[in-house]
Amino acid sequence: MPDHPRQVMGRAVVLGGSMAGLLAARVLSDHADEVVIIERDDIGAAGGVEARPGVPQGAHVHALLPSGQLQLERWFPGFADDAVAAGALVPDHSAVRHYVNGTLRRYANDLTIRGRALSTTRPFLEGLVRARVARIPNVQIVRGRAAGLVMTGGRVSGVRYHPGAADPAPDTPSDTDRADETLTEPADLVVDAMGRSSRLGDWLTEHGLPTPPMRRMPIKLTYATALFRRDPQISDIDVAFSQTLPAPGRAARIGGITAVEGDRWIMLVAGYGDDRPSRDPADFTTRCRRDFPAVFGDLAENGERISDVVTYHQADSRRRDFHAFDRLPAGLIAVGDAVASFNPVYGQGMAAAALHASALSAYLRRDPRLDEPATDYFTAIRVVIDAAWQISTTADLALPHIDGPYPPGYRLLAGIADLIFMTSADDRELNRRLSMVTTMLAHPNSLAQPGVLLRAARARMRRRVPATS
Ligand SMILES: Cc1cc2nc3c(=O)[nH]c(=O)nc-3n(C[C@H](O)[C@H](O)[C@H](O)COP(=O)(O)OP(=O)(O)OC[C@H]3O[C@@H](n4cnc5c(N)ncnc54)[C@H](O)[C@@H]3O)c2cc1C
Repeated sequence: MPDHPRQVMGRAVVLGGSMAGLLAARVLSDHADEVVIIERDDIGAAGGVEARPGVPQGAHVHALLPSGQLQLERWFPGFADDAVAAGALVPDHSAVRHYVNGTLRRYANDLTIRGRALSTTRPFLEGLVRARVARIPNVQIVRGRAAGLVMTGGRVSGVRYHPGAADPAPDTPSDTDRADETLTEPADLVVDAMGRSSRLGDWLTEHGLPTPPMRRMPIKLTYATALFRRDPQISDIDVAFSQTLPAPGRAARIGGITAVEGDRWIMLVAGYGDDRPSRDPADFTTRCRRDFPAVFGDLAENGERISDVVTYHQADSRRRDFHAFDRLPAGLIAVGDAVASFNPVYGQGMAAAALHASALSAYLRRDPRLDEPATDYFTAIRVVIDAAWQISTTADLALPHIDGPYPPGYRLLAGIADLIFMTSADDRELNRRLSMVTTMLAHPNSLAQPGVLLRAARARMRRRVPATS
């Protein structure tokens, strides 16, 4: 719970009611008389447990990093207990496997580093957060498609939106009619939580402003995912994570299995560049058996598949550098993927969104002047974004199809990351340190401390661990 809630505005309008928007709304409910979430999908109060059109990645494996879980607990006390009561799985650490190049690591990346982890599908998790937010008396969820900003005297003073369904079905004529209608929602603060494809930049241009500077790294990643009935006859696995690192003659690949609510496993296989898994179940099974540790093939061949194979292609990691945007108008902030969206294999997105919400809370508790740009907020979230970006892009720059941009000191960073990653497989303390960073509980620079480097160097000499295996 926030320490000192402070009422600083009449009305906040949040565009997008997914993880980042819901968390921002929770924070804003302490500081605004009224919070309105405008979401184009029909999310209702209780919410569905299926992936929805506005969040197409929701059908794929989503791990909630411990830092994200801590934040959820902060904003919704008792969240983990409620989640477990509703069916979320708590993985047993002994049933977690981490494979690198087909070999089982002695120590797995530790999602349980702060206690129990929660394992669920993404729609289920989002549904739990939405149900909590919907119970807050001064938060209202409105269905509609946001279409532009209203600006008064150089500051953002509201939004324009089309009420009703985003893509009305033929049998809903009233929604179809309303899609032509444009309404205005006045606001003291507008929050962009519309995800990585947010059109906020275009909307600013309509008002004669430039777009926030954007950086991209082309990752060309394709996921294929399917759900399976959990079956102890096939495997006792709760979580499996497989990384194949790029090497001459070896393609980089990622695979994941997590046990989730409803006595199911969700399993993904992913490839880069032209190595694109398809929706063809036969291709999925072949890849599971051929390219991943045995448990993947066992599930695919012997398990009962209870969903179609679905795919998702993410062309790039991208960040909008609002902290460097010198024409930022007052009355506007952005959260979640609308600010930065990373390579999803590192599982950072939801935790980053939760940390943005915390930064928003800290900003609002300082009683900011809302007639000035929210520069302090964007400066604060830059720390989170830089850290997540560093983890994701340092690893991605090792992929053969990615040729930059290389950050200053890249070779040193990559060398340290490689050393710690390899030696931590057999060193509990190094694995703990690395897990703190990969789960976003510690800054990546903590791995460059002399004591950590010395320990890793010794471990490497002792075990003759090659730099890359
Ligand atoms: C394949 C894949 C796997 C991933 N795995 C993980 C993982 O393991 N762990 C993790 O933490 N993260 C993961 N992520 C990242 C995670 O999905 C995102 O970081 C997270 O969803 C960001 O939430 P968000 O609310 O910012 O944006 P989104 O979830 O993208 O939501 C945007 C919302 O805005 C709404 N919207 C858009 N435009 C409008 C409009 N004009 N008007 C009204 N509403 C609008 C949409 O309907 C949607 O509800 C993964 C991503 C992908 C692609």
